[in-house]
Amino acid sequence: MRTSQLLLATLREEPAEAETASHRLMLRAGMVRRLAAGIYTWLPLGWRVLRKVERIVREEMDRIGGQELLMPSVQPGELWRESGRWEEFGPELLRFSDRHEREFCLGPTHEEVITDLVRREIRSYKRLPVTFYQIQTKFRDEIRPRFGIMRAREFLMKDAYSFHLDKESLEETYRAMYEAYERILSRIGLDFRVVEADTGSIGGQLSHEFHVLAQSGEDRIAFNDHGDYAVNAELVACRSPTGERAPPKQTMRAVSTPGRHTIADVATFLEVPAAACLKSLLVEGRDGGLVMLVLRGDHELNRLKAERLDEVATPLHFAGEAEILEQAGCLPGSLGPVGLDLPMIADCEAACLADFVCGANRNGEHLVGVNWDRDVPLPRTADLRFVTAGEPAPNGGPLRIERGIEVGHIFQLGTKYSTAMNAVCLDRHGQAQPLIMGCYGIGVSRLVAAAIEQGHDERGILWPASISPYPLVLIPIQMHKSQRLREAVEALYRELQEAGLDVLLDDRRERPGVMYNDAELVGIPHWLIFSESGLDRGRLEYRRRGRDGDKRGEIALRDAVTSLQRTLGPQALAARQAPATT
Ligand code: ATP
Ligand code: MG
Repeated sequence: MRTSQLLLATLREEPAEAETASHRLMLRAGMVRRLAAGIYTWLPLGWRVLRKVERIVREEMDRIGGQELLMPSVQPGELWRESGRWEEFGPELLRFSDRHEREFCLGPTHEEVITDLVRREIRSYKRLPVTFYQIQTKFRDEIRPRFGIMRAREFLMKDAYSFHLDKESLEETYRAMYEAYERILSRIGLDFRVVEADTGSIGGQLSHEFHVLAQSGEDRIAFNDHGDYAVNAELVACRSPTGERAPPKQTMRAVSTPGRHTIADVATFLEVPAAACLKSLLVEGRDGGLVMLVLRGDHELNRLKAERLDEVATPLHFAGEAEILEQAGCLPGSLGPVGLDLPMIADCEAACLADFVCGANRNGEHLVGVNWDRDVPLPRTADLRFVTAGEPAPNGGPLRIERGIEVGHIFQLGTKYSTAMNAVCLDRHGQAQPLIMGCYGIGVSRLVAAAIEQGHDERGILWPASISPYPLVLIPIQMHKSQRLREAVEALYRELQEAGLDVLLDDRRERPGVMYNDAELVGIPHWLIFSESGLDRGRLEYRRRGRDGDKRGEIALRDAVTSLQRTLGPQALAARQAPATT
């Protein structure tokens, strides 16, 4: 491909809306463009990367005997009513009606559609077990689409579904899928960790998540050094505090805290640790009113734990400023439990505080020296917080916590959908049995962003070699002034293509600096630079950009093709051979 014919839409400016490295770099490198909130167009370079990820995923699904199919993104509401998820799924499900007033939705996932297909097509145990998969566009009306394609509303997923008559068979496929996911992430070249996870709205008994490790990850994963414990930190129950609460020493009084709204601001201003402050949050209750949740200032609310409380509405929804003003008479930064007549739940650690600081429910004021029971009744207590690093792991040793990006999630679903939708199969005795199901998702588009989070520097993207849009670029300097140079470049370009290498030729009338900047930004790992002085000596400058730093050298023009074939390896071949199957 010639850059003169390619939509190379690189941007010099930092896009203001981008919060994470991958979002910023995908926009700057011209990989994607935003059409609407959480909805993106993949430009030619980004599309190449996506296709390479897809190919690895497809090969590994085929290898374990998955059969590829393609299901529609528009799904009839009736199917979702049958499974019970029309009501259960909430506003992430985008619903609409056709001209005949029939209800439809845009598929956020495909359990209903595949179960409907299988109940019609597969009647006998002889056809089981079976695994179907697709690589298809999903739509979820995410409440906060963000970080570009990382948490989009429209995104590309590989979803697979397996069907069985017994649990052992499900476990076997689950294990094969687990290993296929490990191979996918290793082949792409990502640093990842597998953890036990919550089954969420998909349902089922057992699930594992695959996380790409990155500081910017939305998830926290907890593990121990023995390597026998790794779970999504949201699932870790916190141990109940031991020991008695200290008796009150101070008297309660109000202090002025003008302009201090966050725990950190208040703690600094009052010269107390954040752990001596109370964090008060107002959320929507199940009965339509508000509920106050209180935690120690240095602890963080765990959404999953909050959603499990009878009093709290699911999904968790924080009260807005107007509601807080109406109920408590102040802004969120001045909330506290004292004198407030609302249902309350305290985290177990918050319940152990004595002489603490909390909002006074008056703007610009806090209370200090507050004590449970004496100044405010101690509410019901519960485990509400995220576990923190250093706390004991269930299997012993201190917990370690790392940030991860969830790129894959596999579930042993059991019979949730087959029972609800009456998907049965005849066993060897001719008895109808509900099908046992597994489902397995991988975020194909999210993987692209995750790869960038793990590999970039201030100059651009550092793709793993397996998925860079082009492995090699030819950069001629002042080609438009030298016939000899043009001929040498064109000849090598042709030869490399004939040798099956996927090569980019920067044939624009641009200064070398512009070409270098673009190659860095877009993340082309291997560069060959043609110059007059090099040609005089029959040599080309070779540069390599990678996660292990930059390399520079020279190669002889004469040996360029063989030497590049050796350096780039089979991954750089623009091969389209059929994937391996077993
Ligand atoms: P999350 O907790 O990130 O919302 P999820 O549990 O809702 O993910 P699943 O329903 O298990 O996700 O979907 C399978 C995979 O699809 C996820 O592991 C993730 O890689 C990807 N995915 C889910 N939601 C999005 C999204 N909004 N944008 C991009 N990829 C997504
Ligand atoms: Mg989700």
